[in-house]
Amino acid sequence: MAVVEQPFPPGEYDVVVVGSGPGGLQTSYDLRALGVRHAVISADEAPGGMFQRFPVFERLITWTKQDSPFEHGTREYEWYDHNSLLAEEPESRALMPQLMDRTYDVPSRQEMEAGLAAFAQRTGLEIRYGCRWEATRRDDDGLVLETSDGEYRCRTAVFAIGVTEPWKAPIPGGSSSSASATPASRSRAASSRGRPRSCSRPRGRCRPHASAAHPSAPGT
Ligand SMILES: Cc1cc2nc3c(=O)[nH]c(=O)nc-3n(C[C@H](O)[C@H](O)[C@H](O)COP(=O)(O)OP(=O)(O)OC[C@H]3O[C@@H](n4cnc5c(N)ncnc54)[C@H](O)[C@@H]3O)c2cc1C
Repeated sequence: MAVVEQPFPPGEYDVVVVGSGPGGLQTSYDLRALGVRHAVISADEAPGGMFQRFPVFERLITWTKQDSPFEHGTREYEWYDHNSLLAEEPESRALMPQLMDRTYDVPSRQEMEAGLAAFAQRTGLEIRYGCRWEATRRDDDGLVLETSDGEYRCRTAVFAIGVTEPWKAPIPGGSSSSASATPASRSRAASSRGRPRSCSRPRGRCRPHASAAHPSAPGT
């Protein structure tokens, strides 16, 4: 059986990005464009984040319009395409309209997943898959992320991990199994100058929230 070489082994990086959903992919693309040495790790096995599974009704609510007064790939067209990630190279821009059939002005879940995978592939983003962030602690030089593959040291960590906690409507009788999720898009930056924002403990270790409703949690 072929052994797939994984990028970004545990070690020291300027920045570590956790997550391979839209937040992690765009962050990595922009860090690379800025020349920032960074690692990307993800508990998933493929790019796309929550769009590999959600929304359960299989269609987004944000539009990508095929027809617009502006050419696809221009800055102005972005107003008509809220789902493509952003790139400098023309061949990596406005990918979503290329992947959608014309049934709706909003992509299906599968089309969105394909758009994110195409962005990662065309831009050549590297991601260490199957690597789960388990805890964060500080040391004198910055942050240490403890993961299933080992320890990552960095000055700054970006947690592009989407929905982390279930939200339950304050309605008597509501069942937790039907609870919606909080709005996602929570890329969190924790710099060595400030305490990780998701951590309420002074100098101890922070663990990612364990949540049965987390769309990325294995086995949920
Ligand atoms: C029901 C629903 C419908 C939505 N519809 C739309 C829509 O129509 N249009 C729109 O723009 N947005 C929509 N959103 C919001 C959108 O899904 C999020 O804003 C977006 O997915 C957040 O991107 P993300 O990359 O931060 O996280 P996600 O896409 O959630 O990806 C999280 C990533 O982090 C990884 N991860 C998590 N925990 C760990 C860990 N401990 N260690 C390692 N990796 C980890 C996961 O494996 C995954 O790769 C919707 C959200 C929901 C819940």
